[in-house]
Amino acid sequence: MTETSGGKLILIVEDNEKNLKLARDVLQFSGFQTLEAGTGEAAVDLARQRRPDLILMDIELPGIDGITALQQLRADAQTAQIPIVALTASAMSADRDRFFSAGFDGYISKPINIKEFPNQVLAHCERVGRGRP
Ligand code: MN
Repeated sequence: MTETSGGKLILIVEDNEKNLKLARDVLQFSGFQTLEAGTGEAAVDLARQRRPDLILMDIELPGIDGITALQQLRADAQTAQIPIVALTASAMSADRDRFFSAGFDGYISKPINIKEFPNQVLAHCERVGRGRP
């Protein structure tokens, strides 16, 4: 097991249990700490309470969607600076543009590549503070 994560705390927002479990297992195996939310509402609450280092946000969720959850997090001074990465099966360039203009810091395509995923997550953690006023 390679400890590349520095123990970073990652909030995974995903309503599909299989996808959630896979992302959690892969990140924990690489030494990340994880939090989980199955809805946008729960994600916003958990982010306020725990201030994760990074949020991986599914877009299609029951209740508020991932874009609305992102907007709520950005609107709150307590959570505005947390990097948020879209976790999405929509790899079309029009969708990517939509995610970036909504304010996401990046995106990771689903299904995740289990070899690459920990490095992708870590790379987004290390971009913290860059490019955001
Ligand atoms: Mn979903």
